[in-house]
Amino acid sequence: MIKENLDAVEKNIEAACNRAGRDRSEVTLIAVSKTKPIEDLMEAYNAGIRVFGENKVQELTYKIEHMPDDIHWHMIGHLQRNKVKYIVGKVDLIHSVDKIELAEEIDKRAKALGIVQDILIEVNIADEESKGGVAADKAKELYVNIQKLSYVNVRGVMCIAPNVDDPESNRQYFVKLRKILVDIMSIMLDNSRVDVMSMGMTGDYEVAIEEGSTMIRVGTGIFGARQYNSE
Ligand SMILES: *Cc1c(COP(=O)(O)O)cnc(C)c1O
Repeated sequence: MIKENLDAVEKNIEAACNRAGRDRSEVTLIAVSKTKPIEDLMEAYNAGIRVFGENKVQELTYKIEHMPDDIHWHMIGHLQRNKVKYIVGKVDLIHSVDKIELAEEIDKRAKALGIVQDILIEVNIADEESKGGVAADKAKELYVNIQKLSYVNVRGVMCIAPNVDDPESNRQYFVKLRKILVDIMSIMLDNSRVDVMSMGMTGDYEVAIEEGSTMIRVGTGIFGARQYNSE
């Protein structure tokens, strides 16, 4: 089933790229495997997937240990400062940095390891109370402050658009995130590369690609519905 789902998602990605006049290679598919067992991840792996996204530190580190070494892991969920030490250096990209204090902790841990950690700035694009992310009008200022840190590298921006029935209604938010990225690019230091837009999930990734997304985070569309145990 996962293989068939992946084939369908791939077709949709290619169609959206064609509509937007974009090359397929501009869009990275992140398979969001949260709550799913290793067997499911291995099914996706055997179908060729090498980029996985998780949103909880403990689950992420467990899966890193139990999956092959050639996987690129992305932390896409809310991150507490006291858990930063468990993932710095183990993930390619942390998508969810929305405060300078969090960036400073990542900087400190990366320095200790002698590495530079790539991150994205998460923007609360629809100003939803239930969601993390820096306010849209504060994103540039946060970028400027994080850029002063030596062991953190801002690669771009990320948003989680509202959960809606009609993906078209999220187009405005993808356009808005792109404007924020362009605004950041305009003040960028010469030697930095800020070109990542992580936007689009199962319900709206095609619209997101049409609006310039470079990373889509697809869970349900690949692995099927999630079951959450009551905690
Ligand atoms: C769970 C999750 C996704 C994937 O959601 P689907 O709707 O299942 O594709 C994407 N991004 C983040 C941050 C998530 O937590």
